[in-house]
Amino acid sequence: MSDQGGCVERFSAANPERLLGVLSGHRRILVFGPAGSGKSTLAGTLCELGGLPAVSADPGSPAFGVPGSVGWAVRKHGRWLTQGMEAVCSLDAGRFRLGVLMALGRLLNGLEDRAFVLDAPGLVRGMAAEEMLLGLIEVCKPDLALVLSREQPLPLYQAFCASGLRVVHVQPSEQARHPGRAFRARWRTALWDAYLQKAREQSLEIRDLHLIGAPPPLAAVSAWAGRQVALIRGGRTRCMGEVVNIAHERMTIRLPASMEAGDVLLVRDAQRSPQGLLRTAVPFVKEIITQAPEDTEGSASPKLCGRVGAVGFEMLNGMFGDPLLHVRLLHAGRSLLFDLGMGRRLPARRAHQVSDVFITHAHIDHLGGFLWFLRSRIGAFPSCRMHGPPGLARRIHALMDGILWDRVGDRAPVFEVHEWNGSTIHRYRLVAGRSLQSIGTASGSDGVLLATDAFCVRACLLDHHTPVLAYAFEPHGEIHVRKERLEHLGLRPGPWLNELKEHVHAGETSVRMRLPDGSERSVEELSEHLVLVRPGKKWVYATDLLDSDQNRERLVRLANLAHTMFCEARFLAADAKQAMATGHLTTRACAEIAAQAQVARLVPFHFSQRYAPDARRMLDEIERYAPAVRVWRPDVPGESA
Ligand SMILES: [Zn+2]
Repeated sequence: MSDQGGCVERFSAANPERLLGVLSGHRRILVFGPAGSGKSTLAGTLCELGGLPAVSADPGSPAFGVPGSVGWAVRKHGRWLTQGMEAVCSLDAGRFRLGVLMALGRLLNGLEDRAFVLDAPGLVRGMAAEEMLLGLIEVCKPDLALVLSREQPLPLYQAFCASGLRVVHVQPSEQARHPGRAFRARWRTALWDAYLQKAREQSLEIRDLHLIGAPPPLAAVSAWAGRQVALIRGGRTRCMGEVVNIAHERMTIRLPASMEAGDVLLVRDAQRSPQGLLRTAVPFVKEIITQAPEDTEGSASPKLCGRVGAVGFEMLNGMFGDPLLHVRLLHAGRSLLFDLGMGRRLPARRAHQVSDVFITHAHIDHLGGFLWFLRSRIGAFPSCRMHGPPGLARRIHALMDGILWDRVGDRAPVFEVHEWNGSTIHRYRLVAGRSLQSIGTASGSDGVLLATDAFCVRACLLDHHTPVLAYAFEPHGEIHVRKERLEHLGLRPGPWLNELKEHVHAGETSVRMRLPDGSERSVEELSEHLVLVRPGKKWVYATDLLDSDQNRERLVRLANLAHTMFCEARFLAADAKQAMATGHLTTRACAEIAAQAQVARLVPFHFSQRYAPDARRMLDEIERYAPAVRVWRPDVPGESA
């Protein structure tokens, strides 16, 4: 590899005039190199000096044209004039190589056999880069490659040699440097704004369009605002635009004044961020708390779901229904429940994965769903833990005892109930059809009811004219793999990353792992380059508590600095008397507790049916009393993860 004389000549980017001599006799010139090596500058200079058009193949960081597309342009007096483009679904050329290559193929159909300079994406390492290079050669048919690199051997040296292309190594100029993500986002946005400079808002009937690409569900209105889209007809991109909103089966889009009609709408995975920058869209399913269609009769509550860090949650009966919070530990294949209200139920396969149920207290709206849960646990399942205030084991046992279990044999549901009275945990074992069995006590003075190697659940004792427990979920650290570094190391993502996370989690740093490229490295070495441990996001679940000084003080301490707080707000502030009499919070008390605990996001719930189905008054009032807290509203994206 040290001798590159075979297929490579050398020049310096500082001398483009000398390079011009090299170009003569060649028709299609591939300019290749990592981001920040000065590819685009060089391509621009060559086009200007040689009178050639340029083709950009990098939808995420194009040197010219419209971001989100591949395009071609001519250069006059130092400015690019776009001549044509083809939209692609993603900004990421590396991950979505096929889309980029197919769009290039369509674009080049319009260029026939013209000569041009091809500005390649800054992808130079690993399989993705090699595949992209081979694809570019096949689709664009270059006969000369200018490779900008400070490294020896050149990136993808073997692939270049095998290609039969004439390869010229161009030494990058001293000033060329990596632009950084923030700069690229600003540059991309500036190009996009320039394209839309004279855009007008147009309203299109949604049912007249075929939606392709990455469209979020139509009901997720907020996921549409700022989306980049392209209008396509006859397989060719006619123009691109930005969604303003969707309402009443119509979509309002900012489109260039000279727009051509299309019958296909390609919805790109790019979206303007709240800061105004054009970025890869936040994946809809992961990040948005949404209203989903109803699937139970009688209940008017919208369903609430979203994410906090590595945890997915769903408030099954929405804001007005009986409390039942399903929490899914995304990397552990296991679930937790908080309360067991009546209404919707979990699918059986999820109910089987519940390891712990945390009951606040045994009122019927918090425990009425126990029977369906009990039924789902018939079979060869491990025992399920149930945590709650004193008296819980006896009540659960009484519920189970109301059923005849003569045919269940060894498939009887098994529970372990842990009652916490503020200082001690009393444990009981319950097997359907048998008597209640005490299995001892443990200290619970720190309030930790469940501790695993990934998180703990802490409780505090509150007053609801009966003892009630509120719960805090406190994760240890969250392990993140730095995907952008993978490419740098020439590694492909895959299941081995989960294995790496597990080893890091367990502290097994000396273990050696076999990687997809066949090499072997230690967990310690890999984690040093690839792994980030961030503090996890704490969240709190609290419901049914009297608005008293002692309750406020205890709950604020439990919820201090939590990312998300699920908190009851049963009555409007004007109905404070009713709240006091029934031992509940008002919107105002809920807001003040969340604000005092400095939580980032508040998900209020357990609204009284007297206000159903319109939650707006409740939410407005909560926002008024907690202006610094982000209060959940339908159609408001929840920045989580
Ligand atoms: Zn209650």
